[in-house]
Amino acid sequence: MLDRTLVDSLFPTDLPDPAFWEERYPPRQQPAEAKVTRLGPSPTGSLHLGGLYVATLNADIARRSGGAYLVRVEDTDQAREVEGAVEQFDRAFAYFGLQPDEHGETGSYGPYTQSQRAMIYQSYVRELLRRDQAYLCFATKDELAAITAQQQAQKVPTGYYGTWALWRNASAEEVRAKLDAGVPYVVRFRTPAEAANQRVHFVDAIRGRLEHEASRNDAVLLKSSDQDPRLPTYHLAHVVDDHLMRVNLVIRGEEWISSVPLHLQLFAALGFEPIEYAHVAPLMKQDGGSKRKLSKRKDPEASVDYYIETGFPAEAVLHYIRGLLNGRLADTPFTEALDAPLRLSECGVAGPLVDMVKLMDISADYVATLSGAEVFDAVRTWAGEYDAELATVLAKERDLALRAISVERDGVDNPRKDLRVWSDFRTAYGFFFDDLFQPVTDPSDERFGGLDPAVVRALAADFVAGYQLVDDPQEWFGQIRELAAKHGFAKNPKEYKKNPDAYPGSIREAAQVFRVAITGSTRSPDLHAVASALGTPEVLRRVGSLR
Ligand code: GLU
Repeated sequence: MLDRTLVDSLFPTDLPDPAFWEERYPPRQQPAEAKVTRLGPSPTGSLHLGGLYVATLNADIARRSGGAYLVRVEDTDQAREVEGAVEQFDRAFAYFGLQPDEHGETGSYGPYTQSQRAMIYQSYVRELLRRDQAYLCFATKDELAAITAQQQAQKVPTGYYGTWALWRNASAEEVRAKLDAGVPYVVRFRTPAEAANQRVHFVDAIRGRLEHEASRNDAVLLKSSDQDPRLPTYHLAHVVDDHLMRVNLVIRGEEWISSVPLHLQLFAALGFEPIEYAHVAPLMKQDGGSKRKLSKRKDPEASVDYYIETGFPAEAVLHYIRGLLNGRLADTPFTEALDAPLRLSECGVAGPLVDMVKLMDISADYVATLSGAEVFDAVRTWAGEYDAELATVLAKERDLALRAISVERDGVDNPRKDLRVWSDFRTAYGFFFDDLFQPVTDPSDERFGGLDPAVVRALAADFVAGYQLVDDPQEWFGQIRELAAKHGFAKNPKEYKKNPDAYPGSIREAAQVFRVAITGSTRSPDLHAVASALGTPEVLRRVGSLR
């Protein structure tokens, strides 16, 4: 055992004792049922959809119970840190209305960034060293690799434990000699000897009772002494932070289940109450015939940025996510689903599949419930960030945009579903706007389906000569019918099919000429509604461009 003077000499002299932090971060005054939850994103890249998934669950459970939800930036792996990641988290949470109750400068249990908590961890590490529940380890990389190789050769579990743990029982003199020589060290946990053949069990709020071998490894608690600041490993940081932030429900990814035995040992060694755990299954993706984890490296849709940049309405994504968390909510209507409670007991143990087609459908359904003005505002906000040209057009042409959006939307039973995400706007509605529309000038354009260019030209010229905008759709379409008849088109497709050589086409082909001339596309919303929204001068300009 190292004497106290030696242990204390390794730390700043003004380092507080744990009692100081206990007092600084007192238990929260809250009802017994209140849950304090947290998300611990690492700023090593943009937020993963799985992060949003777990955040949704955390925030819902905390708020509904009258507790608090906090975000703690877990930046102890400074080498992997990506600049701007924290700002991106904030932006993503704001987009989805998932702002934490405590984070950054907000809240009494901060700092909420681990690199700013180095002192706190050190207090607890020093305490463990003073009590001989931790020790200094000077093992080199090569020595560690040699231990692993021997363990593999002997077919025993790999790790730094028992008699394999070179520095577990080192004498104070050996330690002092290394320190005097300035050799860097890590601090390891001294696993209690009785752990060797123990099994531990605990109750997971999603999975029920779980049983595991006790942890035997003398885990590293504090990383190398030659780093500044000296930061803890995840394991120590989790235990200290969740204790001091008075978190009472840890919801995290299932990849941490196997660390629970170690975490329980650490809670016990530090004299902390253990915290309830809920381990969430990962989001999956169908990849050919098999399923795998949704991966930021392989799948663009794994990144939350993708949803923001593509312009998914937050409500649609949240509705989808909530349905994945609790199947009961998948078929619940929008108005109820976003307010309905999430329950840990209904979270699956197997990871749910993320199905983009399903999400797009949900999104289209959601957009169909919005008023034209709501759609306009949302598209404009999105375009302001991601499509400057469209933003300018919308600012200039608000009335036209509202007329365009209301085509087959306002006052109809089955509103159009051509807008799933805000970036669809350009394709679905861009043709309404002069600045975004290229008139079709060539009568032999392939969009006319191979009609004789002379016929296309003649139809267009006659249309321009006599066009009237009338309110009644039938009467409006009557003009096209008359023009078609005048230029020898069959009255209907059936007649045309019976004798294809007698006609240039049927009324359908004739109408397509005007659809393509007015909208630039062979598919469009109701042409009369489009023509009304555009106004007569613009309709004439477009059809008149065909020469
Ligand atoms: N920083 C950890 C991660 O990114 C958080 C795990 C936890 O929630 O405890 O996986």
